[in-house]
Amino acid sequence: MNYLINRSENIYYVCVMYFLIDKMVINLLNLFFPAVCLACDAHLNDNEIHICTFCRNELPVTDFHLEKNNAVAKRLYGRLNFQLATSLLWFNKKGIVRHLLHNLKYKGHEEVGVFLGKWLGEELSQIEAYKAIDVVIPVPLHKSKLRKRGYNQVDKFGREIAKALSIDYNAETLIKTKATTTQVFKDRLKRILTHEADFSLSENTSLKGKHILLVDDIITTGATIEACTNQLLMIEGVSISVATMAIAE
Ligand SMILES: [Zn+2]
Repeated sequence: MNYLINRSENIYYVCVMYFLIDKMVINLLNLFFPAVCLACDAHLNDNEIHICTFCRNELPVTDFHLEKNNAVAKRLYGRLNFQLATSLLWFNKKGIVRHLLHNLKYKGHEEVGVFLGKWLGEELSQIEAYKAIDVVIPVPLHKSKLRKRGYNQVDKFGREIAKALSIDYNAETLIKTKATTTQVFKDRLKRILTHEADFSLSENTSLKGKHILLVDDIITTGATIEACTNQLLMIEGVSISVATMAIAE
């Protein structure tokens, strides 16, 4: 009996010790690696998540979803047949949006995609025209890049928008067949050279007659969106709308 009491006491002390060590490790981590703003690297207060209050207020919001004839739509007019087009933020090569998207794309901070997707999804769910959309499709990454990065930076963004609009998310139908080497963030804002042959469709025919929302991180020239749209329009009866995290100035 005594043996059992001693044993349970020991287990209790071991648990307390683990709890204290755990807390100590967390405190030490916070001391040496404090949570920082993903847009400006300032230390975050306890009530701030991902982005500091200053950056949250400074983010150059477009409000394009409120205006049909906006800058994204104008960039795509005459090149592809689409219904609606919007971007959440303005992208400037020196601004906080660049830093934010750099963290998303190259530093493993997928929470940026969640944050921006929830935000835009909430906005779009208030707009009548966006309620006609049936499914969200992300601009895909080539499998070699996906393996290297470990994630498609647009994935969480697209999933959050689909969740907010209560519609499906489909990352299987549109496929990137050719790896491109030009990147937006390297040195200066470069144009992405994309050809229509870079994308293709899987055998999936579940998208017949659907209104698709194609999502991407940044719209620059619109060449990627154009190439993807041209593929998706090969599916019978589909219509396309476009939403990106940001639009390059
Ligand atoms: Zn900040």
